[in-house]
Formats: sequence, C-alpha cells, structure tokens
Amino acid sequence: MSQLCKEKITCPKCQAEDDFEFWSSINVDLNPELKEKIFNEEIFIWTCPKCGAKVFIPFGTLYHDMSHKFMLFFQHEDPEDGKKYESFDMPEAIGLDKDYIFRSVYGLMNFKEKILVLENGLNDIAVEKLKYSITHLMDSSMSVRGDKLFFEGITKPDDENKFGQIIFYRLSPKEDECGQIGLGMQKYYEQCLALTLDKRFEVNSCACVDEEWVSIKMKGLE
Ligand SMILES: [Zn+2]
Repeated sequence: MSQLCKEKITCPKCQAEDDFEFWSSINVDLNPELKEKIFNEEIFIWTCPKCGAKVFIPFGTLYHDMSHKFMLFFQHEDPEDGKKYESFDMPEAIGLDKDYIFRSVYGLMNFKEKILVLENGLNDIAVEKLKYSITHLMDSSMSVRGDKLFFEGITKPDDENKFGQIIFYRLSPKEDECGQIGLGMQKYYEQCLALTLDKRFEVNSCACVDEEWVSIKMKGLE
C-alpha cells in the first residue's frame, strides 16, 4: 500500500508554517496518479498556502510496481557513506515472488529512467551495459566528455529496424550534442545474451544498477 506522511514546513519567503504531505511508500498499482506526479515532479513540490511560493522537497520513497514486479528504493542524493554500490539482501519474509526485481536508485532522472526501463519489461542490466558500450566503446569521446544516456523508449518495428529501436536521450556538457540516439533493438538483445554467459553481472539482491556499476563490474573491482 501507499503511505502518506506529514512534516512541518516553514515557508522560506513569508515564514508561514504548514504541513507538507509526502509519500514514504508508493504502490503504483493502487495509486497510478502518483507516477505521473513523479514524472512531472509535482509530488516533490510544496506550495505555500499564504504567499504561493513553491518549494522543492527532496524526499526519498519506496516505489512498488506489482504488475511489473519491481521495487525501487529511491533517494535524491548518493549515500554519504560511499556505499552506493553495496548490495543488500531482501528479507524473504517480505512475501514477494522470486522473480521480483529490487533496486536502489539515486537521483530523480535515474529514478524516472529505471521506472521506464522496468515498465517496458527490459532487463535493466542489459540496458546499462548497452549504455556503457555506446559511451565507452562505440564512441569513447562520450564518456571522456561526461555524456550521460537515459533510456526513453522503444520504437515500433519498421522496414529498417525489424525489431524496432531502443531510444536514449543524450545529455552532454556540450549542448549541441544533446538529443536522441536510436539503436536497433538487436544491440540490446546481444547484451541480454552476453549476460547469460557472464557471471560478473549476476544480481541476486537489492543493488544500484547503473552505468557506473557496469564500469565497476567490467574492471573487476569487486
Ligand atoms: Zn509563503
């Protein structure tokens, strides 16, 4: 179920006090409207009842999607203890199916992306490996420059791409390089196949799976 909590907020503009209601957990099957509020970020906005000032309140939440069988432990900031990539076991007593996916996610853009990837029924490890391969192997100038890729969706099959395309948004410090990148879905399927043979990328617990995680596993630093 979804859980609503309250916290006192003092308006930074007029010092009026009010309650801010935030969701410590979100069950998106029961409250589908909350997903939209995450994507337009409205869920994190408090509006002062007196002066109308808007304040961004970065609260973390547990996001649960029962139909797609995944659970995300979301925080806006990386953990301070440096344990971002330490995985932890989920208690069995939690009573969920064995094929459930558990992930910790840091940063709002990564959170939205992870929801999209898992809702589309994709293997997020394969998606992150594909991103790594694009930015480090296909065009290594991208990783050198600090470009980031974010999954956006999959296109329908057409004459040119009989499995459709996987689309990423490229965020680059070089502004004219920002924009969409599309790759034939077979590149994604190749990554899925490679994963079945590569034990380094096995995840049996709750982990933060992103491009940096892939890079750590590639270098065998664990
Ligand atoms: Zn105010």
